[in-house]
Amino acid sequence: MAVDQTPENLRRFAEATGTTILTSQADLDPKDRAMVEMHDWCQQQGFIVVLHSGNILTSQPESRVVQNCKVVMINKGLKVGQVIAAMPSLINLLLANVDVPENQAGGDATFSVQQQRLRMLIKDALTARASDIHIEVREDVTRILFRKNGEMHLHAEWLPRLGREIASVAFNKETDSAQSHFNPLVPQDASMPLHVSGADVRLRLASMPAHGGFDVVMRILTIGNQGAPKLEDLGYTPDQVAIISKAVQLPYGAIVVSGPTGSGKTTTLASCLQMIDPRRKIFTIEDPVEKIVPNATQVAVNTDKEDRDFAAMSRASLRMDPDVIVLGEMRDLDTAKVMTSASITGHLVLSTIHTNNAVTIVTRLVDMGISASLLGDSNILVCLISQRLAPLLCQKCSIPIQKSPQHMNEMARWKEVLDLEVHNVKARVHNSNCAFCEGTGIVGRSVVAEVIWVDEAGRHFIQRGNVLGWELYLQEHGWLSLREHGVELVKAGKVDPFDAETIVGPLNHSLQHNVFDYKNQLFQNLPASTQAAIPAEVTTH
Ligand SMILES: [Zn+2]
Repeated sequence: MAVDQTPENLRRFAEATGTTILTSQADLDPKDRAMVEMHDWCQQQGFIVVLHSGNILTSQPESRVVQNCKVVMINKGLKVGQVIAAMPSLINLLLANVDVPENQAGGDATFSVQQQRLRMLIKDALTARASDIHIEVREDVTRILFRKNGEMHLHAEWLPRLGREIASVAFNKETDSAQSHFNPLVPQDASMPLHVSGADVRLRLASMPAHGGFDVVMRILTIGNQGAPKLEDLGYTPDQVAIISKAVQLPYGAIVVSGPTGSGKTTTLASCLQMIDPRRKIFTIEDPVEKIVPNATQVAVNTDKEDRDFAAMSRASLRMDPDVIVLGEMRDLDTAKVMTSASITGHLVLSTIHTNNAVTIVTRLVDMGISASLLGDSNILVCLISQRLAPLLCQKCSIPIQKSPQHMNEMARWKEVLDLEVHNVKARVHNSNCAFCEGTGIVGRSVVAEVIWVDEAGRHFIQRGNVLGWELYLQEHGWLSLREHGVELVKAGKVDPFDAETIVGPLNHSLQHNVFDYKNQLFQNLPASTQAAIPAEVTTH
């Protein structure tokens, strides 16, 4: 969570001009409201507010835009007052709370002021490349937070009334199922298609009552109908891409992508679909439709109606002469059964599931009620993928790890894995003045993944339910695990070692796989040959 500290530029300006920095509405003359005539122009800049008195409040007083502002005001015949430094949060509050008359709101007259504001908020989120918009409505304030690269950042503070109005407009006027009335006292969810700044955007809305108010979260699902990124652009290694490409060309079998919520599974599925031969018929069953796939028939399920739920729609799709079926998510035995029966009857199935790594996809399916011997059938599982998203370091402001005492303290622990390439490893700098990453130290995310091609030996491990032995077997055969992929990104200076550890666990291999000696409170480093002896019952070919 970003802390609202006084930025250096404001301190500098206030000192030079002998003025104070305005931090809250209480610092303003209550009669001196934001000027409606300048509102649209100020909204576009995002960091300036012109008041009735002609005073210019800005969080970037040294910007050339402030001079432009004066010119615009003079051209409009307005009196130009003083330039005053103000905290970004105050500027956002003032920009959001201007009472714009309906006919001056600009844009399409068929939209109300609040609908326009909702669009402005979503436009801001798209510009900031946020994945989610959080609206926290409380008794005294509405806080707007954006999730960017997996982390929360405060975007604006509004009056509580505005938060409530935007939430009801979103639910009552903009959603697919606008028949339901927004009630902040019960959890609600809906899907919202919008046309914002020339692009079609789809958002998923969810609300939840909270102490003193309620929360609304809007997840941005699709932006336009641009194609899904390529697997290599998401962060998959060339070897992993080669395995997945081979799997999607198969006539039948199942490809399962696992990972926690928000780990990018849906994007990976969309990228896989783009690799499928266009002469094959693709059906997707989703809840709701997230990414638009041009070469597929996409079906949204309705969980409220039994005949339109996930399993029913999946079974129905089998009668529609498909070659490829995408099951948005396997969450129960019914959908898992569709996966097995569709693969056995000669279809390629792609699906997602919630597990922490690739081998435990099997464990999860067995827990759901699919038998291990069926899962070991060579017509079913062909490729198992597990993925996370790791924050990518800003290459403009990250520093060599040797310059970060905090990182060097951990070197004893990381030495085993990072030693030889330590000169490449970079550390993240928080709250820098870097314009490139807006001081976050992060410029996007990369997939960290493990990909298993299910071979004959793998099927033996599956049938015996020996996932631990399977993982050791894979490691002995040069397989890249999630942890090792994470270590590769750290060694390449793309991911901070601390960030990598929050995603893949300790970088140090011996902490994960060797034997813990309780008597001496030590991790014993077993020789590789002893480890190999663990899955003794395994027959390999
Ligand atoms: Zn940076």
